Amino acid sequence: MWAMPTAAALRSNDLTLRVSEVFASIQGEGVTAGTPSVFVRLQGCAVGCAWCDTKYSWSPTGGRETTLASLMAEVTAAGCDNVVVTGGEPLEHPAFAPLVAALKQLGRRVEVETAGTRVPPEAPVDQWNVSLKLAHAGVAESTRLRPEAIERLRDLDAWFKFVVATPADLAEVMELQARYRLPSERILLMPLGMRRQEQETLTPAVVDWCRERGFRFSPRLHILIWGPRRGV
Ligand code: SF4
Repeated sequence: MWAMPTAAALRSNDLTLRVSEVFASIQGEGVTAGTPSVFVRLQGCAVGCAWCDTKYSWSPTGGRETTLASLMAEVTAAGCDNVVVTGGEPLEHPAFAPLVAALKQLGRRVEVETAGTRVPPEAPVDQWNVSLKLAHAGVAESTRLRPEAIERLRDLDAWFKFVVATPADLAEVMELQARYRLPSERILLMPLGMRRQEQETLTPAVVDWCRERGFRFSPRLHILIWGPRRGV
């Protein structure tokens, strides 16, 4: 059973983390799309998706080093109640659980964006947003689909987001849904593409697939508004 560490324990931890960027924006996708949020992007991801738009976050030694206390000051200054911990792959970061604990101690609501490739540690996360990777990510199935991690996240009532473009992608989603017994009401489909035009072209088909299967549609607001820009 997870227990909230005391403030003294967190302070005495004197933890350092490697952070790619911290910025305030709106949540761009998923069930809380549109929510004012501060994003904490942690360094490090070993998944290696071909179309990844945050390759600068892959190296665990990249970005900048900060302390947990400094990071909490940055989050406080950003002034949003909702914090999105993202990456990289945040579950690969050694300070993930203490970071979530510190954010909760600050009184923040915590969402986590993960590829679902690691079993999550005990941590008081309010909302898990799991973006399982399909074959079009160009990553070996043994790397992108880890049954023990997916099943644990499913049991934590995670939301499962899939970026899709073709009927073959939809068929893959259906296969994964059956394989891991993912509830339809917890699945979201989002159109593939890093440009507004691509999103707009694909959206009608993706909405139809959601209607047919009982999935949710999610826009990708950050792309519609800003395109492939960093830190927005
Ligand atoms: S899991 Fe996320 S951060 Fe890692 S390579 Fe894939 S898209 Fe990029």
